[in-house]
Amino acid sequence: MGACAPGTGAALGPGAVPSPAQPASAAREPARPEPDLTVLVFPCSPCTRPRPPRTMKVKVISILEDNYMYLVIEESTKEAVAVDAAVPKRLLEIIRKEGVALKAILTTHHHWDHARGNEELAKLYPDLRVYGADERIGALTNKVAHNEVLKFGDINVRCLFTPCHTSGHTCYFMWEDNSPDAPALFSGDTLFVGGCGRFFEGTAEQMYKNLMDVLAALPKETKVFCGHEYAVRNLKFASKVEPENENVKKKLAWAKLRDDEDLPTVPSTLQEEFQYNPFLRVSEEAVQKFTGKTDPVDVLRALRTEKDNFKKPKERLNPQAMLAFEWGLFSPFLEKK
Ligand SMILES: [Zn+2]
Repeated sequence: MGACAPGTGAALGPGAVPSPAQPASAAREPARPEPDLTVLVFPCSPCTRPRPPRTMKVKVISILEDNYMYLVIEESTKEAVAVDAAVPKRLLEIIRKEGVALKAILTTHHHWDHARGNEELAKLYPDLRVYGADERIGALTNKVAHNEVLKFGDINVRCLFTPCHTSGHTCYFMWEDNSPDAPALFSGDTLFVGGCGRFFEGTAEQMYKNLMDVLAALPKETKVFCGHEYAVRNLKFASKVEPENENVKKKLAWAKLRDDEDLPTVPSTLQEEFQYNPFLRVSEEAVQKFTGKTDPVDVLRALRTEKDNFKKPKERLNPQAMLAFEWGLFSPFLEKK
């Protein structure tokens, strides 16, 4: 799956601050509305052996406030599969630029910021297949079941049913036959870098099963492409839970640098997540101590409640609000105090 240029093997690991030598292909798309985007290939390590020609690449497309949409391209056939196609206009620009044919959409869950582009794309491409596990997903053509395997050329996709954030949430595990590269997990709003999704339609028992049985069984080197850019906020919470965890500190410092440069923190790897993500560390003593619980499901439930109440970063006043303040327009309210 993808190829790597020499020297990029560890470019996406924790603490691996992007250097000026990092290829442009690993950079996030420029700030909107510029339509260009990230090209992300899967790096291997070590990166010395001869490699087969690259056949698959993942484009990381930053949309809306903090969502990720992905386009997986099989380069040998120029066919592509989108994951969570919420903004058709952006997707179409990229499809055109890459000269690829969109074959299918994989939707992780029905929330508008993941699925709202499906209908429009289905109208444009009458043969388009839309996969998902929830009837509420717009333009759904193929309802998938747990462990069902889909095939798109050389690309295999295993559907992993992970209900909790929504009752029909599904993650997609992708790999290529005969490829030495790491597989990829499109984890939607179930697993984030440093965190997990909210339990809107499910229970802590379900999320425990999703994380510790379903996703934990995947190969450790699996690259994790999640549905939102929440890394800094998640890792700040992780450092509250485990203040002594060096992996949390390192990943948070790295994520802040990425954030400063408007670069994505995806993909991480499953192995990394187990080192700093408190929701995957519910049997660790420090995490149990933080929650005051010992049963892993109780720990997970308590962590989620704590995270739900974890303070959001302070809202910065927008320029108009600041101007209004300077002009004294808020003074009548201030004087009332
Ligand atoms: Zn959601």
